[in-house]
Amino acid sequence: MATKFSYSTLRDHAALFSQGLPILTYHKVGPKPRGVKWRSLYAGPRFFARQMAELAGAGYRTANLGETRPAVGNAARKFVITFDDGYVNVLRYAAPVLARHGFTAIQFIVAGGIGGSNAWDIAEGERATPLMDAAQIGDWLAAGHEIGSHTVSHPRLTQIPAARQREEIFASKRRLEDRFGRPVRHFCYPYGDWNEAVRDLVSEAGYATACTHLESGVNTAATPDHALLRIEARYPRRNLRWLWRGLLNGWA
Ligand SMILES: [Zn+2]
Repeated sequence: MATKFSYSTLRDHAALFSQGLPILTYHKVGPKPRGVKWRSLYAGPRFFARQMAELAGAGYRTANLGETRPAVGNAARKFVITFDDGYVNVLRYAAPVLARHGFTAIQFIVAGGIGGSNAWDIAEGERATPLMDAAQIGDWLAAGHEIGSHTVSHPRLTQIPAARQREEIFASKRRLEDRFGRPVRHFCYPYGDWNEAVRDLVSEAGYATACTHLESGVNTAATPDHALLRIEARYPRRNLRWLWRGLLNGWA
C-alpha cells in the first residue's frame, strides 16, 4: 500500500499537490458533539474554512472527478473535494464556505439512508449523525454540487456475496438517478474496501470513476479510474510541532 497521507495544511503538501490531482476526503464538518467515537471524522467549521481559504489563496480551483487528468503534474492547480456518507452538517457548515470561494464538491450518498443516520457506524458504537434528506440533497445539487453513490447500505463490499455486491452497486445508482433526475457517475467504496471483482462491478454498472480511501496520493492520467487515490483531511497530530504552528497561526 502507498503511504497514507493526511491533509491538514497546504505547506506540508504543496510539493505533493504539484505532482498530480489531489482528491481530499472529508466526512463530517461541524462542531464535534460530546461522546464521538471517531473524532478524526470531524473537521471543525473554522478548520475547514481555513483549509479552503488557504487553497483558494494559493490559486487552487476545484475540479470534477470526471475531468481528464493530466499525464503528469498539476499545472492548473486543480483539486477535488469529496464528502463521504452525505451528512447534513456538510450542507450546513461546509456549503457556505464552498460558495464563498466558488468551489464545488461531491457528496457520496448512501442511497438507503437518505433522511436517516449513519446506521453502519451506530452498530459499532458511534453516535447517530443525521444524513441529508431528499430536500437537502436537492439544496446541495441546486448550489451547483454533485452527488455520487456510496452504495445502498454502506457494507464492506468484499465481505458480502456477489449478488449483494451487485445490488449495492447497481441499485444505489439507479435509485439516486431516479430520485434526483440526473446521472450518478461516481462511486466511493465504503471503508475503502474493494477488490478486483468489486471494481469490475462498479465499472459494469457504468460509473466513470470510483474513489478508494485506504490508498493515498495524487492522481494522474495513469491512475486507474476505478481506484482513484484520496487524501484524508484531518487535524494534524497534536505534537509539539502542531502546537507551535497552531500558536503561530492562531488556531491551537
Ligand atoms: Zn462511508
